[in-house]
Amino acid sequence: MGNKGLLIVISGPSGAGKGTLCKTLLSRNDKLKLSVSCTTRQPRNGEVHGVNYFFVTHENFKEMIDKDELLEYAQVYDNFYGTPKSFVDKNLNEGYDVILEIDIQGALKIKEKYPEAVFIFILPPSMEELKNRIKKRGSETEESLLKRFRCAFQEINYISRYNYVVTNDVLDEAVKKLECIIIAEKCRVDRIKQSDIFTQLQEGLKNE
Ligand code: 5GP
Repeated sequence: MGNKGLLIVISGPSGAGKGTLCKTLLSRNDKLKLSVSCTTRQPRNGEVHGVNYFFVTHENFKEMIDKDELLEYAQVYDNFYGTPKSFVDKNLNEGYDVILEIDIQGALKIKEKYPEAVFIFILPPSMEELKNRIKKRGSETEESLLKRFRCAFQEINYISRYNYVVTNDVLDEAVKKLECIIIAEKCRVDRIKQSDIFTQLQEGLKNE
C-alpha cells in the first residue's frame, strides 16, 4: 500500500544530537535513507566527503543552484547548505523513507514543496547540556560556538511549525520515539489510498 516513501525532516539546534540520532535510526531500519547535503563548509576532523556531506566550493554550489539541482538551500552561520534533489526524489519513488537533517529555513521551504512531509524538532535536555555538547566537539572557535549557541535560542521559537518534538536525553528512548512517529505516520488514513486498502483486502479472495 502507498508505494511512495515518507519524507522526514529533522531539525534542531546545533549540538542537540541530530546526527547521532539519525545514525542510530538508520542502522536499525533498512527502508530508511539519509540525504547527504552539499555544503561550502570545511570538513571537520573525521568527516568524509559523500558520507557526512558533499564538500563543495562556492562555485560548485552556485552551479547547482543555477541548474536547479537543489530541493532547498540556505545559508546557515557562514556557510551554504543544500539538499540534492535527485537523491530524494529517486528514493521516495522507490519506496524508501528519506530523512533530511536540515535547518529551519530549509524545513520551511520543504514544507511548501512537500506539505505531506513529517517535521520533527529535536531538543537537547537543557541549554547547559547543549553548550557542553558543542564544546566537546572541539571543532568550533569561541566565536562560532557563541553564534551557534545564540542561534539555538532563536531556533526554538520555530517549534510550532513542526509536527513533533523529541528531547534527546537518553539516546535509545529518543530513537524509539522517532521510530514510533514514523510507524504512526505510515498508518494515517490520509496517507493511504482507499483503492489500495480494497486491493489488499481482496487479494486473498482471488486465490479461493
Ligand atoms: P553543521 O555545520 O553543524 O554540520 O550544520 C549546521 C546546520 O546546517 C545544522 O542545523 C544542519 O541541520 C544544517 N544543514 C545541514 N545540511 C543542510 C541542508 O542541506 N539544508 C539546510 N537548509 N540546512 C542544512
